[in-house]
Amino acid sequence: MLNLAELKELLSQPQKIVITTHHKPDGDALGSSLGLYHYLKQKQHQVQVVTPTDYPDFLQWMPGNNEVMIYTEKKEQSAALIEQAGLIFCLDFNSLSRINEMGELVRVSSAKKIMIDHHLDPENFDDFRHWRTSASSAAQLVYEFIVELLGDKNSITADIATCLYTGIMTDSGSFRFPTTTSTVHRIAADLIDLGADNAAIHQLVYDHASENRLRFLGYCLSEKLEILREYNTALITVSKSDLNRFNINTGDTEGVVNYALSIENIRLAAFIIERPDKIKLSLRSSGTFPANEICKNYFHGGGHRNAAGGQSEGTLDEVIHQFKTLLPEYKNLLTQ
Ligand code: 5GP
Ligand code: MN
Repeated sequence: MLNLAELKELLSQPQKIVITTHHKPDGDALGSSLGLYHYLKQKQHQVQVVTPTDYPDFLQWMPGNNEVMIYTEKKEQSAALIEQAGLIFCLDFNSLSRINEMGELVRVSSAKKIMIDHHLDPENFDDFRHWRTSASSAAQLVYEFIVELLGDKNSITADIATCLYTGIMTDSGSFRFPTTTSTVHRIAADLIDLGADNAAIHQLVYDHASENRLRFLGYCLSEKLEILREYNTALITVSKSDLNRFNINTGDTEGVVNYALSIENIRLAAFIIERPDKIKLSLRSSGTFPANEICKNYFHGGGHRNAAGGQSEGTLDEVIHQFKTLLPEYKNLLTQ
């Protein structure tokens, strides 16, 4: 393990650093990674962000985006960087299975590993962690890492502020989830003062839908939404052929599940999608209902209490059936 003084000592010398984040990075994964990237680069480190997979178009405007290496596109180069790194920052995930094949490379690397994360149940692969499940986002934790742990607020540039603001905004549901404390608003305000253009960021992230995405959303809501009133649960299921029909790309399915949760009295919303290699589930819940428990117990996944995900090797119909048959077990929690 490293203590903070030892980590600061390491960071006082130029290091080879890899920053990585979870499979199919979202706004927080990429925003926290690029925010930290700009900070560490400014401190004269040799820094590379390596993502396990590609990520949606609506995130590709972020400063530093062109410098990101995608593991699946440059496996050998990524593996060499991970092997040679002195430090590896793991942002917005806490289990090496979340970075696919890269997980084993990170595990065996002799680099010191720093986890900055807000998910439950961290795996012990790190040497130092800044981890708190009550944090709105990994980007908030990166802000705290720079400002509170390293005492270096003066080094936050407009690019850093822009990336961190994006992470906080997206993971807090535009400042509406319960993790959005007054402190989160104060951090957001600081980031605006430091150069994040909040109105522009909102537009870049949220007003970037393709025509197909909007038509797909309409199709999901009018044709694929099923409401199970007895369990205050809403379900949207999408097959491979639906995805092909609307020419759906990475990121186009993001957020669809939230519409199901926005229905009055719905406590649990599920989006079940037939990906080429597996069935992927996204669950959202309101209040104290533990969506992550269902994902962890039945679908090889996890996440937060109100936003969780998992997968299955079964067919789409089997997974839909499995999901429906486990609802009675949770009926009390869903209807109380
Ligand atoms: P999403 O539904 O947007 O894919 O994911 C929602 C939340 O659940 C995210 O915070 C994500 O980190 C977590 N999550 C999604 N899929 C998985 C998974 O397969 N395993 C684990 N442990 N967490 C997941
Ligand atoms: Mn996050």
